[in-house]
Amino acid sequence: IPPGNIHSFLFPTTTSISPSRPRVPEDKPIFDLPSTGEVLTYGRLRSDTLSLAAGLHALLKNAPGHGDLGVSGTSTGPIVLLHFPNSLHYPVVLLGSLAAGCTVTLTNPILTPTEIAHIVGQTEPEVVFTQPGPQGQGVIEAAYEVLAKEGKRVQRANVFTVDIAAYPFTVSRGNMSNGSSWTGLMTHQNEAFVVTRMTSDEARSRTAIILWSSGTTGKSKGVLLSHRALVAHPIVLLAGNPSFKVNGEIWVGFAPFFHIFGLMNVCLFAPYLGAHVLLLPKFDFLTFLRLISTHRVTNLHIVPPIAVALAKSPLINEPWCDLSSAKTATCGGAPCGVEIIEEVRRRTGVVVTMGYGLSETGSVTSTPLAHWDLVEPHLGASGQPVPGMEIKIADESGRALKPGEVGEILCRAPFVMSGYVNNKEATAGALDQDGFVHTGDLGYLDKDNWLFIVDRLKEVIKYKGFQVSPAELDAIIGGLSSIADVGAASIYSDEQGTELPLAYVVPRSPALHSLLRQGAITADHTELINLANEVRKTVEEKCAHYKWLKGGIVFCEAVPRSASGKIVRRNLGEVKGVHVRCY
Ligand code: AMP
Repeated sequence: IPPGNIHSFLFPTTTSISPSRPRVPEDKPIFDLPSTGEVLTYGRLRSDTLSLAAGLHALLKNAPGHGDLGVSGTSTGPIVLLHFPNSLHYPVVLLGSLAAGCTVTLTNPILTPTEIAHIVGQTEPEVVFTQPGPQGQGVIEAAYEVLAKEGKRVQRANVFTVDIAAYPFTVSRGNMSNGSSWTGLMTHQNEAFVVTRMTSDEARSRTAIILWSSGTTGKSKGVLLSHRALVAHPIVLLAGNPSFKVNGEIWVGFAPFFHIFGLMNVCLFAPYLGAHVLLLPKFDFLTFLRLISTHRVTNLHIVPPIAVALAKSPLINEPWCDLSSAKTATCGGAPCGVEIIEEVRRRTGVVVTMGYGLSETGSVTSTPLAHWDLVEPHLGASGQPVPGMEIKIADESGRALKPGEVGEILCRAPFVMSGYVNNKEATAGALDQDGFVHTGDLGYLDKDNWLFIVDRLKEVIKYKGFQVSPAELDAIIGGLSSIADVGAASIYSDEQGTELPLAYVVPRSPALHSLLRQGAITADHTELINLANEVRKTVEEKCAHYKWLKGGIVFCEAVPRSASGKIVRRNLGEVKGVHVRCY
């Protein structure tokens, strides 16, 4: 893995050229917004990121980093928070901030102020880039108010709003509510800016990115990824997918860039590989198919619900729909049924290649060579370990198991996370002394090293690839005075190809409780509907919509708990009750 800043790796100068770096022509389109016709070429991406870096560097030159954020052996630069959706601006702000020596934290732009407050409180950013309006700047402002109400003293960031409807872009400086225009960030002469060199040790210890994951338990945790992890992954992704053609790929970029999958496999991999990415900021299946058909897209980056749509949607049979250019679909983030993979192949000719990975492992750990003849005999597998990745299937004592035996999947590579922000206990639980990441997933390796994932040990719900923490839902719903007990879980929807969050709820009202005990109540009971509405609204107020109770609420007499009072989530599925739908 070559040393250095990820920016210098993706955009080498004649003195920093790396032998492992493919050559990308200056005029090669990399990010493209088909809805407006704007294109960022490789050369333009370099110069715009350097312009932004120059502005940020001038702004922050006296700003200190934030030490190690509780993970010894690491350091950060000034922290920049990105809170806006996929756009041409995203890679520019991301790579520009990294070039300036900042550490960048990425958030889902639909998070609520309470959720953002947690992230801001943990990282205390110097700079925030967001959109103007209530969903961007408004949410950031409200997050600082949440922190103030909680009595937390947090230094307010410089907030810049980015108009993602236009490129080249204007950056406005909002002194929170006062959005006076400030163009200083992008007017610096980019040629003058030189990215500071980094030694191998610095690239290993300097945190480049902080992502947010629920980890193996509880509230969202900041996953620290170093410059070295960011440099390693494009190399690993190309080595693990030898069918990708340097300067020859055309992709649709809808996977969110704040999530490990979109960040690594699209946003950072594209400038490395010289891939042309058609941005689809808001996913809709029809536009997705039209883009593939008209632009002759070569590989799809999908999650299981989209595989389900490819397997079932009648749109595939429309005369204009031509998926023949797409040989493969890289799929990950959650499990996908074998029948679905076979059906997609039968209907469209596209080979769905299941990969497996986590934010904590810094991207994919295993991937299949993208060829149907190799995939078919191992259907149901999530690939083989990528180059440089060790996968160990372990029993509870950490002993390695034999091929075919099911245990926890542990992953080790020089490019996994450095730890979690300010959470020594969670870091020690997820990263053992031998450097293995404990994934909290159960699986086995077959005798040819194909990885099969069979279950999840950790308490995470995956809604369309997004993590939902049942413990977070428990705390929110359990906070209502009308609720005696609650245990969140999920229910799988074959139709949508995803888990749906669901809550088992014990009402406090003695009358309702006794009706439930006698089995003398149905889902149309007014009091039960009112209670369901109260629970639904509370979750909607506090959580982004991917955490909402799309699987409904099961009102029940009791939630199974162990002798120590812990919810036995595995037994929730057997609990009898009255199922009320929320949506
Ligand atoms: P994230 O950090 O959001 O990517 O979530 C990682 C988790 O997603 C893993 O620990 C798994 O539980 C799940 N996951 C990712 N890929 C797969 C896969 N191919 N099959 C089953 N589960 C997966």
